[in-house]
Order: sequence, then structure tokens, then C-alpha cells
Amino acid sequence: MRKNVIAGNWKMNKTASEAREFVEAIREKIPANDKAEAIICAPFPYLPALVEATEGTEIKVSAQNMHFEDSGAFTGEVSPVMLKDIGVTHVVLGHSERRELFAETDETVNKKTRAAHAHGLTPIVCVGESLEQREANETVELVRSQVTAALKDLTAEEIAKTIIAYEPIWAIGTGKTASSEDANEVCREIRNVIKELTSEETADKVIIQYGGSVKPATIDELLSQSDVDGALVGGASLEADSFLSLVEAGI
Ligand code: 13P
Repeated sequence: MRKNVIAGNWKMNKTASEAREFVEAIREKIPANDKAEAIICAPFPYLPALVEATEGTEIKVSAQNMHFEDSGAFTGEVSPVMLKDIGVTHVVLGHSERRELFAETDETVNKKTRAAHAHGLTPIVCVGESLEQREANETVELVRSQVTAALKDLTAEEIAKTIIAYEPIWAIGTGKTASSEDANEVCREIRNVIKELTSEETADKVIIQYGGSVKPATIDELLSQSDVDGALVGGASLEADSFLSLVEAGI
């Protein structure tokens, strides 16, 4: 059985002391269990302190982006080697905000996904359509091509360890969520593409999250869907209580 992976994407929010307070508030409250996994996706400057503060707990720490090269003349970039070195376990790649605002392409997402695996980091690869694309009935085609491009040249073993987050752009930060059935339909389609690329056995192992205005009030129904294995949460992950209730819903 696949776990429910609940990842809180803080985006560009919180001060260092707010980050510390958040972890203090939740660190003792997530029991060891084999049903759900909790991940905090934090801004780069807070990662070392968060790794330290979550040691010995069930909480994992993720970056929100990285470069694909190991080192070199890439001013302002952070490498997979550095993330691994400080104890980060996951990295969000290809978030729609990075695709839209920072020129991330399918090709760079693929390079970063391969680099993450090469360094033992678990990539959380984001895909999803805009409102225009949804209205033009292009959702399935677009998501299939984003997934195929992101997973290009990965081994089946690497694909099995990749987390895919389906985040319809029109549902991010808008309060509008895809219905659980619609979310499940696209997540199932993602699993189908992975099956075509690898095998049913591999596709069955892949964690596929939904993201876009997920709240404590909507998480239960989402997690009850056959192909939704967790959530990537923005706004509702910023408050400790709210994040905790999302994780508890997964347990
Ligand atoms: P919201 O939960 O704020 O809609 O953000 C979703 C998201 O982009 C998570 O990566």
C-alpha cells in the first residue's frame, strides 16, 4: 500500500523564528506510523535549522528548487550535493510558479529530476494545467507530456521513487479546488502514463499527490480517492495546527 505523503510548501514565507516555532509546535505530535509521511518544503536559509530540529522525528525536510549541476560557476544557485550534504531528503521541482515566473522548462525539470536521484534526493515533480488549458480540454494531454518529459531517461527504480504532484494552476492559492473525482481522474491518468513508460508494478509504487487549495476540510475526501496518495499544500501548511490536521488525516 502506498503512503499518504503530506508536504507543506511554505513557498517564500516565514522568518527563521517562525520556522523554528512551527517545528516546535508539531515535532512531538506526529506519531511514528506507516500510513503517512510529513514533509516541510522550506526556503533555503531555514533548511539546516529545520533538518536539525526535526532529527529523530517523523518529519522530513525538502527544498523548493535546486540546480542540476553539482558545483561550479552558477551564481545564486544551490546544488543537489549541497542539499544532500545538509541532510535534506526531498526537493520540489518544476512547481508552476517556477515554470511561469522563473522560466523552468520540461527539459530543466528533467535534468533536475535526474540530478536529484543521482544524489539520493527524492524529487517531488509538479505538473498541472492552466485554466485556459483546462477549458480547452487539454489537461490530460498536457499532464501526460509533462510527466513523460520529467521522467525521460530515468530508470524504473528511479521512477518508482519519484513523487508526482498534480497541481492545477487555477486551483493554486485561489480557494478553488478540483473536485476529488476530477483530481483522481488526472492522478489516475498520470499513473497510466507511468505504467506505459515502465510497468504496472512500478506505476503502482509511485506516490501521486494533489495540490491546489487543499484544506483540512477537503483532505479526507481527497485521500479517499484511489489514485491520490497525499497532498502538496501551500496556504494551509503555514499554520502548525492546520498542517498537523492535514497530516493526521493521512494517518
Ligand atoms: P495552495 O495550497 O496555497 O493553493 O498552494 C498549492 C501549491 O502550490 C503547493 O505547492
